[in-house]
Amino acid sequence: MEPHSAGKRGTVLVDQASLFIAAGVCAFALAMTMLSVWVHNRGDSFLVGWMLGMLLLGGGVILYYAFPPERSGIVATAFTMEIVGFVVVFVAARQFTGRPTGRRQWLALSAAVPAVALPILLGYDGLGIMVYNFLAGCLLMATAMQYWNARAEAPSSVAALSALYALSAISFYACGTIIAHEGAWALDGRPDNWAERFNAVMCIAGITGIGALSLGLNNARAARRHRLEAETDVLTGLLNRRALFDRMAGEALAPGRAVIVFDLDHFKTINDRYGHAAGDEVLRRFAEALRLNTREGDIAARTGGEEFVLVLRDASLPLATSTAERIRALFAESHVETGRGAVRASASAGVALAGGEAGSFEDLLNRADVSLYRAKTGGRNRVVAELKLRNLKAAI
Ligand code: GH3
Ligand code: MG
Ligand code: MG
Repeated sequence: MEPHSAGKRGTVLVDQASLFIAAGVCAFALAMTMLSVWVHNRGDSFLVGWMLGMLLLGGGVILYYAFPPERSGIVATAFTMEIVGFVVVFVAARQFTGRPTGRRQWLALSAAVPAVALPILLGYDGLGIMVYNFLAGCLLMATAMQYWNARAEAPSSVAALSALYALSAISFYACGTIIAHEGAWALDGRPDNWAERFNAVMCIAGITGIGALSLGLNNARAARRHRLEAETDVLTGLLNRRALFDRMAGEALAPGRAVIVFDLDHFKTINDRYGHAAGDEVLRRFAEALRLNTREGDIAARTGGEEFVLVLRDASLPLATSTAERIRALFAESHVETGRGAVRASASAGVALAGGEAGSFEDLLNRADVSLYRAKTGGRNRVVAELKLRNLKAAI
């Protein structure tokens, strides 16, 4: 039955051809949106995959409806574009969820092309379109699974994305099942039935919904990346000063919160003697020693040029002091190789502990700084814990 006959029934608002052409236009519009997002964010290469996929899907459907269905070369080209479009969308989903596609997987996926195109070219367009519908359904279901497995990132959006892909898959399975049920291996015209119209509506809903959700997810990911970059010290990968203060701002100092302030000894001399690049490497080495001695819940930050802070929770003064001592010893034993010989460096540390008294993080940091000053004046390369002055006062 030709699609135009649907209008004669008087009850159909939009015929099938118009629905599919609308889906094609939606795909093009989405491809252009993705292109403009990608231009500003070239690192997100999966956007290119989504865009290519949408161009192929949109182009294929418009090609199929723009020419008479008897021209098997054009029909085969249109359905090849469609199936390759779905493969590309699946591959882009894998890329988005951090799973690149290997050469062997590409080879297996490309087998879909002859499976769809050959029967159409041999005159069995019904068979080719049925195979296409089932393969498209499988690829969409596989895409839905990719997102479902990655839903931890943004549970509601990713689950909605997954559901849209799965629903679209069902509409393709329905189209394939009708052709298989009727055994219409050679069609006279385009398939026209309720499943095709459901499929067209699902394509429009799917493309717009999937487009909005995918771009939303991409934006959220970019915002998270920018926040992380703004919080991270580029040289060492530790938190920077601002991030440390943001995390500690407004926090009531729970008993057991300890602050250790580290400052590298005679660091200016290291720079002068071995060069700035060697100095940078020494800073990275210290950050490594810090990281190796950080438990979950601790916060390690580089707060200045060669100054670092470690905030511990549920600590005692002896525990915080021994942690600082471990870091100091590990760093003092390590060295950095340079063109001008091995560089050895040391660090001094000051320790302070919150004991349930009222006070801010800044107060605790200042107290640790006082201890650090004593470590420096006492000879450097050592850890000094604060004196329990307040307890002494109480005892007097
Ligand atoms: P002290 O033992 O008293 O702490 O002496 P110091 O030389 O470590 O202290 P000072 O504050 O005089 O010097 C700190 C040096 O740290 C000066 C600066 O050039 C260097 N510095 C700061 N930031 C960086 C950086 O990102 N990379 C390198 N290589 N050096 C840095
Ligand atoms: Mg300093
Ligand atoms: Mg120093």
